[in-house]
Amino acid sequence: MSYALVLQAAVFAAAKHTGQHRKDANRSPYINHPLEVAAVLATEAGIEDERVLAAALLHDTVEDTDTTPAELEAAFGPEIAGFVAEVTDDKGLPKAQRKDLQVSHAPHLSPQAKLIKLADKICNVRDITYRPPANWPLTRRIEYLDWTERVIAGCRGTNAQMERIYDETLAAARRTLQGLNGCT
Ligand code: NDP
Ligand code: ZN
Repeated sequence: MSYALVLQAAVFAAAKHTGQHRKDANRSPYINHPLEVAAVLATEAGIEDERVLAAALLHDTVEDTDTTPAELEAAFGPEIAGFVAEVTDDKGLPKAQRKDLQVSHAPHLSPQAKLIKLADKICNVRDITYRPPANWPLTRRIEYLDWTERVIAGCRGTNAQMERIYDETLAAARRTLQGLNGCT
């Protein structure tokens, strides 16, 4: 594995996400999220493909920063830039339509992009459960979990370990949110 490539992607993503925060109450640094997505792939599923790990680190740069696809291609080559493009929403579309398109596009993603999508949803389910966006009511958090399940349905058949981690993460998240529901 090329550690240099993976570290180069981490440095690039950290620079691009400078000053950005996640939506949790503590406003965690945004870069924590791409690092967690790459770490799920490497440490929880044993993925060693440096192109997948680099693309995981870069997966939100085009969607959420001023990074262009051409810039990624120049820095990391067409393959990695292509994986990032596959998991990037069209920001010109309304949010609701973007969410529907993630569901309908998922089955057509490359196996590498499906791995990144699985890792992204695992991390976002954990965030929604344990570090939720400030001011989201429980119903919205539960709806978000349901939507990830519909996206992931289209990513199955690629990596059994990643699917198992997603399923376990989702089940634990639902138990936790149902517990909160019982308290209110
Ligand atoms: P958003 O897409 O606005 O926010 C969720 C996204 O924020 C995640 O996918 C993640 O994306 C990112 N994110 C950043 N920080 C966190 C965090 N701490 N925890 C989890 N995710 C985080 O929200 P929705 O998914 O709800 O999409 C908007 C849709 O919701 C619209 O269609 C709108 O109409 C609808 N809506 C629903 C409401 C409701 O109460 N049900 C209320 C208002 C709107 P990433 O991994 O890319 O960073
Ligand atoms: Zn993400």
